[in-house]
This record gives sequence, C-alpha cells and structure tokens, in this order.
Amino acid sequence: MDELSDPQIRFTLKELLNIASGRSASNISDLRQPSAIAEHFPYPFFALVGQREMKLALLLNLVNPGIGGVLLIGSRGTGKTTAVRALQTLLPQEPRSLCYYGCTEQEVEQGGMDAVCPACTKKYGQGEPLTALARVSLVELPLNAQLADVLGGREMETGGQPYTLRSGLLHQADRNILYIDEVNLLPQDLIDSILDAAAQGFYQVRRHHTSATFNSRFILIGSMNPEEGALRPQILDRFGMRVFVRGLQNPQDRLQAYTDAASYYLNPREFTSRWQHTVEIAQTEIVIARDRVRRVSLPNSLAQQAISTISQLGVESLRAEISWFESAKALAACDERLEVTAQDLRDTANICLRLRRSPFIQNYFANQQSEEDELAGALSAL
Ligand SMILES: [Zn+2]
Repeated sequence: MDELSDPQIRFTLKELLNIASGRSASNISDLRQPSAIAEHFPYPFFALVGQREMKLALLLNLVNPGIGGVLLIGSRGTGKTTAVRALQTLLPQEPRSLCYYGCTEQEVEQGGMDAVCPACTKKYGQGEPLTALARVSLVELPLNAQLADVLGGREMETGGQPYTLRSGLLHQADRNILYIDEVNLLPQDLIDSILDAAAQGFYQVRRHHTSATFNSRFILIGSMNPEEGALRPQILDRFGMRVFVRGLQNPQDRLQAYTDAASYYLNPREFTSRWQHTVEIAQTEIVIARDRVRRVSLPNSLAQQAISTISQLGVESLRAEISWFESAKALAACDERLEVTAQDLRDTANICLRLRRSPFIQNYFANQQSEEDELAGALSAL
C-alpha cells in the first residue's frame, strides 16, 4: 500500500495486480455491510488482497470483452460477489447510445442510415448526437428475475403511435457487465436466453405484430456454489474462463482481510480515499490497455503449439482457444506489450482450459469408432 500511494510511481496493470496480490482476499461479504455503502463507496478492487486468479480473470475480461466472460466457482463467503462489485471502481467511460435500440453514430458510419432506427435517422440528419459519454456499468440480474424482465417486450405508451417494445435487462447490459449470482440455480429458459443473447450480441423480441431487435454485447460474469447444484457442461463451456475461488488458507491473510473489512465498514469514505490514487492509475491504464489489446498479435508458432496442447488435453470446444488466445493478448496489453509470449499463454492456461473436457463426448466418439471400423470392413467387400 505504501508503494501504491506514492504519486511519483507509475504502474502497469500487471504490476498493480502483482502488488495487490501479495495481500489476501477480503471476506468483507461476511460483514453484511448496508448496500448503500457498497453503492456509494464500492470496495476498491486492488484492496481485495490475494485471490490473484479471480482478480486476473476479472481484469482481463474488462480489458478484452472478446474473452467471453468468467464463471467464479466457490463456496459462500469467499468474496466472489465483493470482487465483482469492486470492479465498479475500475470501469472506464465509453460513448453510449441514447436510444432503446442501441443505435450509434458508428453504426451509421459503417452501415448507412438503414443501420439505425427511424427516430435516430432523423436525429442524425438534424446533427443531434446519438450517443453520450458514460461509464460502463455493472448490471446485476435480480434473483427472482422473470423472462419478461430479462428480454423485455412489454409495449410502451406511445400515444396513438404504433406499438414500441420495451427493452429488457439484457439490453440494459449492452456494452456493460452482466453479473449473475448463483447462475446454477437459474431456470433453464432464462439461462438459455441469456447465453444466446451473449453469444449473438443481440436478441429479438416479438409481441403481436411487432418485433424489435436489441443489442446485447456484454461481459458475462457468473458465480456459483457447487454445493448447491451442478451446471450443465454445455453451459460451463460458454464461459470464457472458470476460476476456482477458495477461502483464505493463511491465518495472517485472514487477519489482514478482517482488519481491512472492519476499517471499511467503520468509515467507507476514509478507507476508499486511501485507495483513490491506485484507482485513478488503474482507470487510466485500463483505457490504454483496452485500446492496445486490439493491436496485440499472437505469433503463429506459439498459436500452433497452443492448439496442439489443447488437442493433447482432449478438449473439443473451439471456445477453448478463443478465450485462451484473447486472454493472453489481454495480459500482454496489461504488461504494455504488443506481442503475446509463451509466458502469457502459461499464465492464462488454467483459467481458460479447465473444465472443458467432456468424458461423455470422449466415450461417445470412442464407442462410435468401432461402428465406423465395422462399416469400413463391410464396405471394402463391395
Ligand atoms: Zn435508435
């Protein structure tokens, strides 16, 4: 912390993560702080001590949404929700659409006037802005959310005009972060809709004779306690990363976590202000890293080695290399580099590749092979 509060010293995101991870995870969720405190003074992300893997995963997704989200797996009280909410202290500003349908100037520039809704076509023609600068936000799925809240679709009062469909939570999450706590307890139709919208980047709602398409490009963060139920393998595979979150093992770390949590609870303003300088460095670096990651390259030889590793592990899903390569690029960007190294791949392998293998599929193909051999034998007599 002394090192971090010196305004003369500049840090890369990777260095910030390493310094902060000398400390252990805070179990402040155990203290049941009033939610208003958490809203006005979110717990500073880099004050979360230890839990390097969880912090690394969350940070890399923020830098590169192409990774495809993260699933945090662990028992209650291990700080999963605290860590996700702490991301609020790092979120950058971006141009955001002012329209229900998510129309932007960029869409007009790329696809012409037909790419946006009629209202926005008119606004654009009159030189009015379609977007305004706003901070990326954290949208939390309420525990009792219904399909209609998530997708939207209720008609809005338009005073005699044709029906307009109201957008849902998935559209509110567009270009933001969508956090689903206890994702393994969600009804199947809900999780399927969310994952489909996340994969496509948009979704369609039809009511009566009206239909509308809403953008839904969000960073998906889920958490689950495996004691409370499993998640289908095909859903596990949809998360770019899977992080195992364990309670603190070292007594000294636990004491540090308790002391931090107690001082945050006593005076959240004072506690968060101690971290203000770190927060400012991190916000600036994240904006730079988000821009840099688009220019980071992965040498072909490294990519080929990585793909043979995936094959050796018996991983079928193509999502494995997408999330792994995008994660390695994000890590290189956090370290102010423009090329992925073997170390970047090693540092991101576990979180991207674990829980990808499917024993069912492996057995299925092995059994199927004997039928193929039989068929080949029969056909050779033709
Ligand atoms: Zn519009």
